[in-house]
Amino acid sequence: MQLNGIKIVIVGAGIGGLAAALALKARGADVSVLEQAEAITEVGAGIQVSPNGAAVLTALGLQKEFEAASIRCRAVVLADYNRRGEVLRLDLMRHAHDLRFAFVHRADMIDLLADAVRQAGINIRLLQKVDSVEPGSPPTLRMTSGARISADLIVGADGLHSPARKALNGSSNPFFTGQVAWRATVPNDIGLADEARVFMAPGRHLVCYPLRNGSLVNLVAVQERRDWAAESWSHSDDADNLRAAFSDFSDLPMSLLGRVVDPGLWGLFRHPVASCWHKGRVTILGDAAHPTLPFMAQGANMALEDAWVLAEELARAPGIEIALEAYQNRRRPRVERVVAAANGNAWKYHLRSGPVRAAAHVALRLGGMAAPV
Ligand code: FAD
Repeated sequence: MQLNGIKIVIVGAGIGGLAAALALKARGADVSVLEQAEAITEVGAGIQVSPNGAAVLTALGLQKEFEAASIRCRAVVLADYNRRGEVLRLDLMRHAHDLRFAFVHRADMIDLLADAVRQAGINIRLLQKVDSVEPGSPPTLRMTSGARISADLIVGADGLHSPARKALNGSSNPFFTGQVAWRATVPNDIGLADEARVFMAPGRHLVCYPLRNGSLVNLVAVQERRDWAAESWSHSDDADNLRAAFSDFSDLPMSLLGRVVDPGLWGLFRHPVASCWHKGRVTILGDAAHPTLPFMAQGANMALEDAWVLAEELARAPGIEIALEAYQNRRRPRVERVVAAANGNAWKYHLRSGPVRAAAHVALRLGGMAAPV
C-alpha cells in the first residue's frame, strides 16, 4: 500500500513512538506525534540495547548516532553476591558483530530519536494529553483539552497506562510481582569495565554497567518483598533503604551503592500481553501492548521491533486493517515468548537454598542465561 498522503497520528514520544514515526515517515506517510509532557525528557538511567534493537536503529539510518551515544558491551558477567570470582562470563567480543549489544543513557536514546524525527520534518506536539481513543471511522482522539483529533490511522505508543490499549482491550489487571527495583546512576570513579555485571543473592540481585563514555555507572537493584511501591520512577526513596537491603553484598557492589543519592523505586507489576492489538484503524505498540518485567532487558528493544514491523506491514498490505492484523500476527507470539522468559528469569538470580543455587548456576553456565535488567 502506498503510504503517501496517509495521515497517521502517533500518541507518545517514547522510544516506540519516535521509532514508529521515523519508520512510517520513511515510507511516505504524513506523520505527527502527540506527547503529554511539556518537554521530551527521560528518567536519568540506562538501558541495554541488544542487536535486535540495534538492527532497527541501523535500518532507520541511525547507526552512527547510536554508536556515538552508546558503549559496546564486551561481556555479561554473573557473580555471587558475597564471593569473589565469577559464576559465568559471556564474552560478547568473541562473537563480535556489526550490530552491537550496547549500554545507552535513556535520555541520549530519546534525544537521538527525537532529533532524527525533527530532521525528518515530523511535528512533535507537546502538552497534548489524550483522554480517550474512539476506534470508529474515522478513528478519533479525545484530548483532555476537549479537542478532537482524527486521522487515517492512530498508533498508541503511550506506554504503561495507555488509553489506546484501554479502548481496544478494556481495563487490564496488572498484579504486583512481589519485587521492587531501585534505579540510580553514580559516578564511575572505580573504573568499572564495559561489562554488564549481575550480583545474585537470595531474594535479590543487583545489575551494574557503565554509561556515557564510562563516566557513570547505571545501577538496578531488585528485591523481593511483600509491600509495594507505585509503578512509576517518579517515586524516590532514601538511599539508606537501598544500602540496608544489600548490606551483605561484597565490596564492589557496596562501594557503588555507597555513592547512590536519591534513587528511584518502582514496584514491578506483571501485565498480560494485550490480546487485541488493533481495532478499526487504531493500533498499539511497545509498552502499551506488552509491558514486560525488566529481567530480559527487552522492553525498549521490543518497542523498536514493533515500530519497524508495523511500518513494513503497512507498506506491504493492500489496506490498513489487513496490515494491522498482519502486524499483530507477526509480533504477538514473539513478544509473548520474550515476556514469559523475563517472567521466568528472576528466580534464577534470587534462589535461596545452597544446592539449588549451585545447580542453577551450573544451568546458567550451560546456556540458560539471558540478558539481565
Ligand atoms: P514509554 O517509554 O512509556 O513512552 C510512552 C510515551 O507516551 C511517554 O512519553 C508518555 O509521556 C506518553 N504518553 C502516555 N500517556 C499519554 C497520553 N494519555 N497522552 C499523550 N501522551 C502520553 N528495555 C530495554 O530494552 N532494555 C533495558 O535495559 C531496559 N531496562 C529497563 C529497566 C527497568 C528497571 C525497567 C522498569 C524497564 C526497562 N526497560 C528496558 C523497558 C523499557 O524502558 C520500556 O519497555 C520502553 O521504554 C517502552 O517504550 P514505549 O515507547 O513503549 O513507552
